[in-house]
Amino acid sequence: MPKLELLKKFAKLAVETGANVQKDQLVWVRSSVESKDLARLIVEAAYKAGAKEVQVQWNDPYVSRTGYDYMTAETLEEVPEWSVDKVKEFIAKGGCAISITSPVPGLNAGVDPNKLQREGKARSKKLKFYSDHMMGNHTQWSIVAAPNQVWAEKVFPELKGEEAVEALWDAILSASRVTEDNNPVQEWADHNKGLLSHNKILNDNNFESLHFKNSLGTDLVVKLVDNHVWAGGGENTTKGVYFNPNIPTEENFTMPHKYGVEGRVVATKPLNYNGNLIEDFYLDFEEGKVVSYDAKKAKETLKSLIEFDEGSNRLGEVALISHNSPISNSGILFYNTLFDENASCHLALGRSYPMNLKGGTTMSQDELDKANSNNSMAHVDFMFGSKDMNIIGTKKDGTTVQIFKDGDFII
Ligand code: ZN
Ligand code: ZN
Repeated sequence: MPKLELLKKFAKLAVETGANVQKDQLVWVRSSVESKDLARLIVEAAYKAGAKEVQVQWNDPYVSRTGYDYMTAETLEEVPEWSVDKVKEFIAKGGCAISITSPVPGLNAGVDPNKLQREGKARSKKLKFYSDHMMGNHTQWSIVAAPNQVWAEKVFPELKGEEAVEALWDAILSASRVTEDNNPVQEWADHNKGLLSHNKILNDNNFESLHFKNSLGTDLVVKLVDNHVWAGGGENTTKGVYFNPNIPTEENFTMPHKYGVEGRVVATKPLNYNGNLIEDFYLDFEEGKVVSYDAKKAKETLKSLIEFDEGSNRLGEVALISHNSPISNSGILFYNTLFDENASCHLALGRSYPMNLKGGTTMSQDELDKANSNNSMAHVDFMFGSKDMNIIGTKKDGTTVQIFKDGDFII
């Protein structure tokens, strides 16, 4: 473990900059039992920030894995009413959430993807109101990460045990801008300013479409919805509380047109989905929809994502990140979207974020549909940025602007 003082700074960052816990607010800390030490520090930091009550929602990925082995798909599909009520109460009380992600890569290898898909579908259906609430920024939420041994040894195969965990802690803290001698809360305020200036340039250009091209075979045109909004860095809830959903974050992202994606995208990093690693894959799009795809590893898992529901074969997000960025420059492959998505331009299959549309957070699903925003119970990011990525933006009047040259922002 890193020095206690450093972890306390990280916990404070999650509470103050991440969720921006308000006085007398209910706070949920969602944590794996693998990350109990950080969870305890976050609980304390949340009370210090004025939380009225902090509830920890523990989970154990190993218990879940055993369940997948022994339970039938039918049982896995049962979502108890009490768990739904609990979420309703959390929303009614105006709670905010801090999640600590600590994935165990490969833990679900060998589980029937159909079981995972059916369980995931049943849960997301029952709890769609919760994801709408969170993704619509009706309250503050934030995700941070903590290592576990299996994950750490996957990221640093030359290290073992505690040494690997220590190395992953260092990588997570430095990617999250937490160092011995800085004030991370202040550091993040400055970082947000940089992201906001790119949002402004992209919004001012009001591009109709983006054309991505590199030597790996990506040749993709992504049309953007009318009245799209580029976001990135901190966000405001519908009640006007400023928060940072992801720690770390380096991205500027917006909403693709549900029916306006054409061409091929080749992934540049593996995708960890449902505990399985999809590797070396591409997707071909026509009129916004995935029409063919292939993967060297875990093609079945990719199939289960694409066929997850009606909207999981269309895009809900397009995000730009310079190849020359801190996480990318660290050269570390984290096997975790929270980090890897910030090292590389990415797209997401599935639901789009209403805030990426002017007035979107107060629109009904019907209105969002009409605005060509994609709807799904899935939202899964995958990475396709590269050091030779070029991006050309086309404006409504047909003029073009080069946005990326050789992997980096040039505007
Ligand atoms: Zn993103
Ligand atoms: Zn995303």
